Amino acid sequence: MTAAKKKISKARLMACKKWPCATHAILTLRPVERASVGTMAVDQFWRLYYNPEFIEPLPIEELAGVILHEAMHLLGRHHRRLAAIHGKNAPLNLVQLWNIATDCAINSLLKKEGVKLPDWEVDGGRLNVCSPLSSTCQTASRLEYYMKELLKNAETVEVPAFGLGVVLF
Ligand SMILES: [Zn+2]
Repeated sequence: MTAAKKKISKARLMACKKWPCATHAILTLRPVERASVGTMAVDQFWRLYYNPEFIEPLPIEELAGVILHEAMHLLGRHHRRLAAIHGKNAPLNLVQLWNIATDCAINSLLKKEGVKLPDWEVDGGRLNVCSPLSSTCQTASRLEYYMKELLKNAETVEVPAFGLGVVLF
């Protein structure tokens, strides 16, 4: 087992302790090394892609947060919702906005729950495209909120150079 895989195993257990209700999802993820993925990403088949160069310097608590983030993409069925709302052949710019909206929705919830994420994670407030969000807003409506805000500002939204990703098929 590589050093990156060992670290992912430890971080997954930490993520399970942080969110026991997500244990099945976290342990269903199958780590797949892929250097072309800048950070981490998932696909609809529950593969967890990782770049070992991203894993190595990341504090284990933040890696656990990233794994929770990735699991939430799948638990939220973000790939299916994108296809249901915007069609299976949505244009790339719409897919990119969708990815940012899902990241904003997930990260705002994880932060509210006290989950540690890397400093550079995608954040609606920091991207300066989204208004403050009510802390009582539910996860599903958070995503719709962020997507609506991003669409309003679509021409000025800069897609982050790298971030927490979801691979869409
Ligand atoms: Zn993400």
